[in-house]
Formats: sequence, structure tokens, C-alpha cells
Amino acid sequence: MAPWTNWAGTEAAEPRKVVTPDSIGQIVQEVEHAVAHRGTVKMVGTGHSFTGISAPVDTMLRPDHFTGIVSVDRDAMTVTARSGTPLHVLNAELGRLGLSLHNMGDIAEQTLAGATSTGTHGTGGTVASLSAQIAAFTMITGHGEKVTASPTSFREIFDAGRIGLGALGILTEVTLFVEPLFALEAHERPMTWDELLSTYDELTHEHHHVDAYWFPHTERVMTKTNDRLAELDGLLPLSRWRQWLDDEFLSNTVFGVLTSVGTHAPRAVPRLNRISGNALSERSYSDISHRVFTSQRRVRFKEMEYAVPREAGLEALREVRRVIGASSWLIGFPIEIRSTPADDITLSTSSERDSMYLAFHVPAKADHTTYFAGVEQVLRGFDGRPHWGKMHTLEADDLAKVYPRFGEFLAIRDRLDPERVFTNPYLQRVLGD
Ligand SMILES: Cc1cc2nc3c(=O)[nH]c(=O)nc-3n(C[C@H](O)[C@H](O)[C@H](O)COP(=O)(O)OP(=O)(O)OC[C@H]3O[C@@H](n4cnc5c(N)ncnc54)[C@H](O)[C@@H]3O)c2cc1C
Repeated sequence: MAPWTNWAGTEAAEPRKVVTPDSIGQIVQEVEHAVAHRGTVKMVGTGHSFTGISAPVDTMLRPDHFTGIVSVDRDAMTVTARSGTPLHVLNAELGRLGLSLHNMGDIAEQTLAGATSTGTHGTGGTVASLSAQIAAFTMITGHGEKVTASPTSFREIFDAGRIGLGALGILTEVTLFVEPLFALEAHERPMTWDELLSTYDELTHEHHHVDAYWFPHTERVMTKTNDRLAELDGLLPLSRWRQWLDDEFLSNTVFGVLTSVGTHAPRAVPRLNRISGNALSERSYSDISHRVFTSQRRVRFKEMEYAVPREAGLEALREVRRVIGASSWLIGFPIEIRSTPADDITLSTSSERDSMYLAFHVPAKADHTTYFAGVEQVLRGFDGRPHWGKMHTLEADDLAKVYPRFGEFLAIRDRLDPERVFTNPYLQRVLGD
């Protein structure tokens, strides 16, 4: 097996050298070595991106020794952690300190630097992405210099580097805004397509976080709304048995079997989708926030996700459904629908606009090309911006049209990494060189 592969098993690389640095000095040394030898160096995360964004070419740096919380500032309500900290470790350490992140995506396996470098986001809240929860970060630039950026120091580097795509430097520490530990009450319930579309605006207005899954070829939708609780007492987490049944068995195992049957007998997909949609029943539970936001994903899949302007989101979703209905594609995975508030990060999918995210999945071994290309065309018609860690076919020229600050990011990259020591084929494609 290649020394580096991604989670989906769709990307692999054989870097010339693998180093697990345990000091900033060692990272600087590797960057200087790459500059001197016209080579490249890349710090990887856990490979949860569906693209080759973290694929190393010459030297691969593993993050394993760059983990853990470094300091806590209870006045500023910030926590500084090493960049390679896995999110589930961060959540556990924050929990022990009585602290919590404001919002999270669907899983907690990724590293802090990996997740923030691609704009990993959840849904709802006052900020949805982890990147928008960053208060400051420290990175080693392509000159081997250590820079700490924040809203008051190197502001333009701060704006670009919160979603830096691994193209601007090697993050060593990230400071995040945190909150006192809080709990969420989740309510999951099935509804119809029409009900979702007619109540979506209301739902997102009334609840802190709304996540919806539409099962293609059916009228079936599952929605999950999460609301903050005032107290940490009296929580009603899912019993272990119920958690196992719903998350491990129904959502992963049965779903895995269904998707694998769907891969081999695609004609059965619409009926299987009705079975999956019906198997997930209504339930409510309450728990510490990260246990409600995230779950385990064992079924391997490939994913494409686009952000479109929030006000056009439902129309884009309707158009996606029309295109699927008019096609011969048989889609076994639900389409995930989330919304995020605007942020001020240079290359954020939510940069300066409230957004709706539509995410498309196929089993890891299935052919995604016509399905993803078909919906991608629809979403591009709505000024869609692809998630940086998920599959898409756009190149620098296309991306420049949907990101007003694209040129600003390129200029900062020229400044911080003129020799392109952090580059790889994915970055060459999306950034133009
Ligand atoms: C099952 C699954 C569920 C997911 N759910 C969500 C979700 O809910 N929401 C969402 O938005 N995304 C989601 N994603 C996407 C995922 O969060 C991103 O792709 C994320 O980047 C993965 O983090 P990683 O640690 O695996 O980083 P990698 O994929 O390994 O790397 C990502 C980028 O980070 C860079 N990087 C890593 N470490 C450093 C460093 N120290 N300094 C500088 N750059 C660095 C890499 O070079 C690369 O450019 C999901 C992915 C999977 C597989």
C-alpha cells in the first residue's frame, strides 16, 4: 500500500521521504531543505479529503506529534491547540476544561489543521465552519519564517490562512474561540419532500442547526434539528443500544449493505432508498454538543458538495431533483442539505454570502462521473462554490469567477510561498500554478 492514501481510498501518493516532526525547528528545517533542493513538503491530516489536496509529492510531514491543547485564555474565551490535534481529542480535552466549540461538521476524525484548511463546516449557528471559529494561528511560511496571524496582526494572512488549502504554510498552532460547555437537544424526524421545501426557511429560523437528507427517487426526507439547552443536567442521551441500532446498524451497516446491493443491482435503488428512508424513524435525545453534532461514518463513499447563495438554495435543490428525475442515474445515497451564515474568509465557500450546501455521495467503488458532472453543471448555474476537500472538476479560471477575492489569495500565496514548496497537482489545478 502507498504510504499515503485518503479515507475514501480514491487517492494515493508515494512521497520520497516521510518525517514525523516533533518541533517547529524540524518543520523549518524541512521547509528550508525543500527550498534549497527545489522540492516540496506537505503536512497531511488524516486524509479525510476526497481529493488529492493533501497528497504529498517529495516530503510528507505526519502530524502525529503535533497534538494537544497548549493554552487556555478564559478571559478571551480562546483555546490554542497544536495543529495536528484530531477533533475528537480536542473535544474530549475541551470537555474536561468545561469548554466547547460553537459548531462542528458531521464527524470528528479530522485534524484541526486539515479540517480548517479546507473550510470544514456544519450547519446553522452564528458561524458554521471551524475556520470561522479561528481567533489566530501560527504557521511556517515557504521562507521558513514563523508568522502568527490574527485580526490585529497580519490581517490579510489571517483572512486567507484560515482556509489556506495547505498552500500558504504549515500550521503549527491554531487558536479557537470557545464557549462554556453546552448541550443540544436533537430531534430527528422523517418528512416529505414538499414539507421540507415549504418549511425549510421556517425550520432554519426556529432551530439553531438544521440538517436534512433527501432520498433520491422518493418523496422521503429525514431532518435533524438541534437546539441549545440552558442546562447540562437531566440530559437524555441515546441509550447505547438505541445508538448502536440507529447509528451503527441502521445508518452504517444496513445502509452499507443497501448501498453495496445498490452498486451491484442498481435497478433496485429506488426501492432500497424507500427502505432506508423508512428505516430511520423519529427520535429525540440530548447530549453534550459534539456528541450530537458528530457520528461515526463506516460506509466508505465519495462526495461532492457545493455551496450556493442561500436565497437560491431551494431553487437549486428543486433543479437538482428535476435533473435527477430526467436522467437514468440511480442514486443510493441521500443528498445532504445544510445552511451556513456568511463569513469573512478569503476563499471560504461562505465568503460574504449566506449559503446553502448540497452534498452528493456514491459508494467509494461506484462510478460517480456522470452523476457528479450532471449536478455540478446545475450548481455552477447558481454560482456554486465547491467544497475544497470534496470532489469537483473546477480549475483556477472557473474558481476566480465565483470567488471575488481569488486574486487576493493568489497574491498572498506568491508572498508566502514564492518557490511553491507547498504545492501538489491538486493545488496546481485549482490555483493555476
Ligand atoms: C466521512 C467524512 C465526513 C465529512 N464530513 C464533513 C462535514 O460534515 N463538513 C465538511 O465541511 N467536511 C466534511 N468532510 C471533509 C473533511 O472535513 C475535510 O476534507 C478535511 O480537510 C479533512 O481533514 P484531514 O485532517 O483529514 O485533512 P487532509 O484531508 O489530510 O488535508 C486537508 C488539507 O489540510 C492541509 N493540512 C493538513 N495539516 C496541515 C498543517 N499542519 N498545515 C497546513 N496545512 C495542513 C493539507 O495539506 C490539505 O491541504 C468529511 C469527510 C469525510 C471523509
